[in-house]
Amino acid sequence: MSVTDGTTGVVTQPEAPGLALVPYGQGRIRGLDADELGAHGIAMDRLVALGLPVVPGLTVPAGSAGSLGEPGTARAAVELVGQMSGRRVGDATRPLLLRLSASAPGEVAGLPPDLPCIGVTPDNAGDLCAVIGRAEALDEVWAGTVRMIAEYALGVPAALLDDALLDAPEPRARVEALLSLVTRHTGRPYPDDPAEQLALAARAVLARWDSPRARRSRRAQKLPAELGIALHVQALRIGPADRSGYGTAVSRHPETGRFAPQGSFFRGVRRSAPPPHTGEALERLTGGTTLLEHSLLTLERHLHAPVSVDFEVRDGEISLLAASVQSRPPLRASVCLAVDLARDGILGKEEAVRRIGPAQVQELLHPQLRLTGGEELLVRGLPASPGAAAGRIALSSERALELGAEGTPVVLVTHETTPADVPGMLASAAVLTGTGGIASHAAVVARGAGKPAVCGAAGLRVDMATGTVRIGDRVLHEGDPVSLDGRTGAVYAGTLSVSVAGPPPELSTLLEWADGARRLGVRVNADTAAEVSTAVALGAEGVGLCRTEHQFLGDRLPLIRSVILAADPAARDEALIALERAQHEDFKALLAAVGDRPVTVRLLDAPLHEFLPAPGEAGAAGDTAAEQRAAALREANPMLGLRGVRLAMLHERLYPAQAEALFSAWADVAATGVTPQLEVMIPLVSLPEELEAAAGFVRAAAETVAARTGVEVPYRLGTMIETPRAALLAAELAEHAEFFSFGTNDLTQLTYGFSRDDVERQVLTSYQERGFLTASPFARLDPHGVGALIALAVERARSVRPDIKLGVCGEHGGDPESIAFCDGLGLDYVSCSAHRVPVARMAAAHSALRARGSDENGTTA
Ligand code: PEP
Ligand code: MG
Repeated sequence: MSVTDGTTGVVTQPEAPGLALVPYGQGRIRGLDADELGAHGIAMDRLVALGLPVVPGLTVPAGSAGSLGEPGTARAAVELVGQMSGRRVGDATRPLLLRLSASAPGEVAGLPPDLPCIGVTPDNAGDLCAVIGRAEALDEVWAGTVRMIAEYALGVPAALLDDALLDAPEPRARVEALLSLVTRHTGRPYPDDPAEQLALAARAVLARWDSPRARRSRRAQKLPAELGIALHVQALRIGPADRSGYGTAVSRHPETGRFAPQGSFFRGVRRSAPPPHTGEALERLTGGTTLLEHSLLTLERHLHAPVSVDFEVRDGEISLLAASVQSRPPLRASVCLAVDLARDGILGKEEAVRRIGPAQVQELLHPQLRLTGGEELLVRGLPASPGAAAGRIALSSERALELGAEGTPVVLVTHETTPADVPGMLASAAVLTGTGGIASHAAVVARGAGKPAVCGAAGLRVDMATGTVRIGDRVLHEGDPVSLDGRTGAVYAGTLSVSVAGPPPELSTLLEWADGARRLGVRVNADTAAEVSTAVALGAEGVGLCRTEHQFLGDRLPLIRSVILAADPAARDEALIALERAQHEDFKALLAAVGDRPVTVRLLDAPLHEFLPAPGEAGAAGDTAAEQRAAALREANPMLGLRGVRLAMLHERLYPAQAEALFSAWADVAATGVTPQLEVMIPLVSLPEELEAAAGFVRAAAETVAARTGVEVPYRLGTMIETPRAALLAAELAEHAEFFSFGTNDLTQLTYGFSRDDVERQVLTSYQERGFLTASPFARLDPHGVGALIALAVERARSVRPDIKLGVCGEHGGDPESIAFCDGLGLDYVSCSAHRVPVARMAAAHSALRARGSDENGTTA
């Protein structure tokens, strides 16, 4: 006999002092924790506390779980669950069975399976099946329960059980074979009494949990071998199959992320694992899904996470069997939930922002390969531009353009790219190169265009003569399909499926809230009006870097080549006029797209190797003089040669021509009522004298345009800080500059002496393997060296010009950790490629929220 404690509702057993059977919902009142109640007991407690319908049941706490193996305790449990469900085990009209399960305090692999058919006997099985209307639904589950009890509680050897089952293909025959084997082996029939069955089931579950194999598994999971489990006895109310069943559901749609319960539903008696066939859609549940929706919504609001539930339906009524935070929910679901919770006032907006990291924003923005595990990995290169694509190999830009024009998705595969390849790159779905790093030409252009790219793929060899390319160990032909993932650097053979769903609209809401939380500005590195428009739509506040040399890519390359290769000053002046005319149009379009936002236009920084014709190219075109001039200009270290401001010092009309084109474009755009906040920037400066001279050219150009148009263009003049010397001489440079933009690509290259185009594939990979570096310093700003130089430059510059505007426009401007570093230095903005703008917005917000959090902690501490 059992008695109920009037105050707590806990049923205690007078026969076994200290033992408690704890009905669902009573654990906390009793002061029990997860160690005692198991994760399932805790979850059921929570459901009861939330007022949700739960299946009747109880927990035997871990500390006394063994007592359920004794008939007295088991009998009390049978009676109690019967009382709670208003049914009786053995009743033929409203039948009740019991289900025994176990749970540990947390997630554990290797829990014993549930035993769902406690209370079935050969005598009542017929009636039960008649109620359900489907015999096989009960028999299969019953066979599973008997088998486990026979093996673990009654000591019938597994081999004998397997043999018995082999000869009995039908579920009912299997049950009969198992029951007669039990009788033969133990000398006693399998008990009919539900309490005896429950006691045996408890012993079986505990014996299995205590088996050497289960203990080994716990050790492998770094869990104590002695870890206890709680036992749970649940009512299994049997009803007609057309109105009863069980299922699982999650709260959110996996594709949209919206609240829309998804799951399946099975008719018949609950098993421990879902049946092999697919269940029915939830909508087919008699009684609809309203109660399920209410339960899932309540749980989400309580747990602040996408949730999953196991549920049971009896005569159209749903009750919950289990509920938990959904493990690995789709990212979209997490984003939509965060927004829903904040809109409903359950979370603050900042808390919603905190829940989605910058890397997750990136994941949502770019397509991804759907990997199944059977793919052939050809090679792993550097993850140069995120996103994924599949396409046919094109070994030249020309071929990429041809195939692209036919509508064939193309992957441009080449040793390296040059400005001449840009049209081919833009016509391709993705780019794969054998050399170059993540700050190389191919990577920078691909990121700007939002195309996935893998660079520096070791061993990639293009053989134009045979139209083949060696990638990894394979030789592929032009036209063969490949797929690549620019986020991981992996390149696969064949056409893999690509997920292309864009981010949910809720991401924009979250990013707007992120904007409200951040201090650091986010601009875009964009060279064309189209890129600016894309970036503005993605939330860029302005342009932090327009690389004017990028306006001369592809078929406009001759314009800049004519300037560089001009035979004499007259030819150069003529070439400059053509360049100025072209730039005027480009700038007008760019400035119109920028609107009233800030825009930093960098005057020409053309590394000669990117812009000179290939050896023999001019000669083959019949211009031997140009071939000779190009040969004379070729440099051993082009990235350290006639670049940036240096070219402007040699060709003194170059910057004035550009600046005049820019200022007159501004005047034209201003006439339409649009007034961009213009910033003119001088690249690759090391000497204050270089900056002073270049600034003179720009000022003179502004005066020329003012005299010609009558418009005095408002602008700021500044410089990039890209060389260590420039950083060290920041105070002197600040005398001539109203703003600095840290070119961290070159600053990293020159601080380490690491060629940005060469070291990543071998040196940096090896350094990361050796543990010298945790990430490429071209991807993640090195805080100790490069970062220290930036910090020093900031301090020195502000000592001269306290209101100097400071930004970063190297690739680091899109990397979350580097962004946090820049935020910490109090820079004004970061600038990155268009498709990284949302990532940067979120990273800047997280950085600000972290800082706020630590301030708050500091205050309260
Ligand atoms: C830099 O060096 O960081 C930079 C932005 O300039 P570029 O990549 O064009 O050399
Ligand atoms: Mg640079």
